[in-house]
Amino acid sequence: MHQYKGKLIVHTGSMFSGKTSSLWKEVNRFRIAKYKVAVFKPKMDSRYSKEKVVTHDKNEMEAINVETIDDIVEYTRKNDVEVIAIDEVQFINSDADYFVDKINYLLENGYTIIVAGLDMDYEAKPFQIVKELLSICDYVEKHHAVCAVCGNDAWVSYRITDAKDRIQLGASETYLPLCRKHYIEKMREKKLAKLQTTYLDDKSN
Ligand SMILES: [Zn+2]
Repeated sequence: MHQYKGKLIVHTGSMFSGKTSSLWKEVNRFRIAKYKVAVFKPKMDSRYSKEKVVTHDKNEMEAINVETIDDIVEYTRKNDVEVIAIDEVQFINSDADYFVDKINYLLENGYTIIVAGLDMDYEAKPFQIVKELLSICDYVEKHHAVCAVCGNDAWVSYRITDAKDRIQLGASETYLPLCRKHYIEKMREKKLAKLQTTYLDDKSN
């Protein structure tokens, strides 16, 4: 029995913080130690590749596309797996309570689970699944990107575009890692710009 049997390891942080790279590193370590690892990722994340998890620095690993936590449980029933790795866990399409129930079930059955996921969306609101996992996990590592304005540790991914949907995948052209101070400044600027536009629109009507 290895030391991580039945343990949950969480890698979280903003975009560009190196979460997926850390997941990849851990998967490699478990593989070197001869454990049977299955890597999963949500079906919708097809930024770079359909069957592979690709980190921002272009490292690749084979991944199984899944929609819900049930797909993962079913896979582990049918296949010889000891370590379950899930990338972009916040996008798994399952209710958070149900998701956590199934994770607990897998842990109780001796699986090692490593996940990588965003802690917050672009409005700095926590993703429920990750929030729950952070409480129940055995190990957690919060990763940090670099603030695009001041170079300090970033806190959140600021969305440059005006799109309102919570899930918008993209790389550097859509998101900017910012520290808390500069995130607040940017949000103020955005609000101000919006007020100005509304005011000008009203005037022209
Ligand atoms: Zn900053």
